[in-house]
Amino acid sequence: MKESGRKQGAPSPCAACKLLRRRCAQNCLFAPYFPADEPQKFANVHKVFGASNVNKMLQELPEHQRGDAVSSMVYEANARVRDPVYGCVGAISSLQQQIDALQTQLALAQAEVVHLRVRQNVSFSNHGYDPASPSNSTGSPSSKLMSSHHHHQPKPLYDMDMVVGQSHYDESMWTC
Ligand SMILES: [Zn+2]
Repeated sequence: MKESGRKQGAPSPCAACKLLRRRCAQNCLFAPYFPADEPQKFANVHKVFGASNVNKMLQELPEHQRGDAVSSMVYEANARVRDPVYGCVGAISSLQQQIDALQTQLALAQAEVVHLRVRQNVSFSNHGYDPASPSNSTGSPSSKLMSSHHHHQPKPLYDMDMVVGQSHYDESMWTC
C-alpha cells in the first residue's frame, strides 16, 4: 500500500537524484535522508561536500548512524554556505568566546562572594557577635547586621544582556 505513490506514473526521485538528474533506485542510499520535499537540504550538502563524497561517507557507516551523519553534514554545509570563510567554526568560536566571558564573570562573582563573606566575618568579630552562638537568638542582631549591610551590596559586575547579546547565531541554524 505504501508503494502506491510510486506505482502510478513515474516514480518520484529523492532530492539527491532529482538534483543529479539520475534515476532514483529502489535502494537509493540518499532517499531515506533527502526527501523530495526538502531540495535545499541536499543542494547545500552537494555544493560543499560533493555527492560522491557524501555517498562514500554514508556507505562507510552502519545504517543506524547514517541519519546522524546526514544531520551533521547538513549542519556543516549550511554553516559553510552562510559563512564561506569560517563555516561552523565561526559558530563554535563565537560560543567558545561566550563560555570564556561567562567563566570570567563567574570567577569574578565567586571572588566577590568570598570577599563579602570575609568582610561580614570581620564586622561580626568587631561587634563581638558570634553567629554560631545560640544565646544571641533574641533581639535578632543578625537582621540588624543584614540591614546595615544593604548599602554595601555591590552592583552586578556585568550586565547579562551584554554577553547574551553577543550571540548572533540564531536557533534556526541548529535545527536545519
Ligand atoms: Zn534517490
